[in-house]
Amino acid sequence: MSDQSSTFLVKSTIKSADKEHRRKINFNIARYNAMVPQGKQQFTDIHLAREKAKNIKWKAIETLDKQLELFETNITRRGAKVLWAETADNALEEVLKICKAKACTTIVKSKSMVTEEIHLNKFLEKNNIESVETDLGEYIQQLDDEPPYHIVTPAMHKSKEDVAKLFAEKLGTAPELTPTELTLVARGKLREKYRQAQIGITGANFIISDIGGIAITENEGNGRLTCAYPKTHIVIVGIEKVIPSMTDLALFWPLLSTYGTGQKITSYNSIITGPKQKGEEDGPEEMYVILLDNGRTNILSNVKARESLYCIRCGACLNACPVYKNIGGHAYDTTYSGPIGSVITPHLKTMDEWKHLSYASSLCGNCTEVCAVKINLHELLLDNRNEAVKQKSSSFVERIAWNFWKKAMLKRSMMNMGSARLKNYMINTFVKDWKRHRSELHFPTKTFNQMWQEKNKKSN
Ligand code: SF4
Repeated sequence: MSDQSSTFLVKSTIKSADKEHRRKINFNIARYNAMVPQGKQQFTDIHLAREKAKNIKWKAIETLDKQLELFETNITRRGAKVLWAETADNALEEVLKICKAKACTTIVKSKSMVTEEIHLNKFLEKNNIESVETDLGEYIQQLDDEPPYHIVTPAMHKSKEDVAKLFAEKLGTAPELTPTELTLVARGKLREKYRQAQIGITGANFIISDIGGIAITENEGNGRLTCAYPKTHIVIVGIEKVIPSMTDLALFWPLLSTYGTGQKITSYNSIITGPKQKGEEDGPEEMYVILLDNGRTNILSNVKARESLYCIRCGACLNACPVYKNIGGHAYDTTYSGPIGSVITPHLKTMDEWKHLSYASSLCGNCTEVCAVKINLHELLLDNRNEAVKQKSSSFVERIAWNFWKKAMLKRSMMNMGSARLKNYMINTFVKDWKRHRSELHFPTKTFNQMWQEKNKKSN
């Protein structure tokens, strides 16, 4: 068992018994569930919309090289610089080079899972550069020194009382502030940081190849300020975020907001096609786009797993997953948690160390059912399991046990072997893991074979 697997077992065991944690996330997910049907009302045929989005992403991913080159050509024409990063380290080096060139001491950042993936904040901190999260949820998490709990709602596991307590501890505010008052405190602190920052760093929800632009979608306006206020704007984005045309946003924006938060459309939607142009008053003087691979081409080269690159990170599969709802986002110990995280992490990192996530699923298929772009998530989890077995990354004991099980299941005489009492004793005594979270197993006294024979005798 890998270290990651043991840690996952310990953390998920603790969290699944934490009733207060469950109460908080159930409360927040219930609010989400109440909103989503309202967002869906804007589509005349939601299934068709999801199907269409899947087809667009299929086209984008099948022609990824061409789409990215087209994006680079178009955005470069308007003065942005495109940098290609094969690994997280490559991306971090590029950021540092820019920071050094600008003598940067403070950065403002908008919410971006890719920057979590490359551990940007820790890296900047080591290099004596202050990096401040400006999304309220991310700001709360940064104050608490915790990674995001959820890909859309980073502080989903915290109640308003938890946040008030945190602000009191870290910022010295009164402990009983309301959410509005807390937001105003954060707003005041962040405005000051915007004034100090030399660089703004954002992610991107979409890379638009035909116009050479990036699209950012958010609810607080902090993303737009991060792009526009500091003199330099750096975008760090995974290469899979591409869509072929700006007109595709007419489908993807409402789809992302519906499945992300239940809104018809998010409050701020920006398309950025380069730095400030001649004669323009607003915007950064320089813009860099770092296109990050970091394992995505491993997924691209895997014909089955490739479908997971269609993901638009709406978070719907996390909210629908019975495992996520019990163990929460942090138990996974990965940047991307929930069903999509369990599918992609073994490919982004290593199958050997992360395959356990593909087994942490009831395979109920609810994730596939709710996915905004109809990714066959539960099938992909099965494919991962299959791949793990083929790579022989399962333990020797496990392989022997499954081999024996297969043989027994294919041979009636072996299935009939031994009495029910003996089987009960064997399973409940020796297969300890079975009983750890379940009640005892009781085999029927008669085998299926015996019951079948008796039934046939009677009917004759
Ligand atoms: S896999 Fe589907 S449901 Fe899950 S985050 Fe991605 S797009 Fe949303």
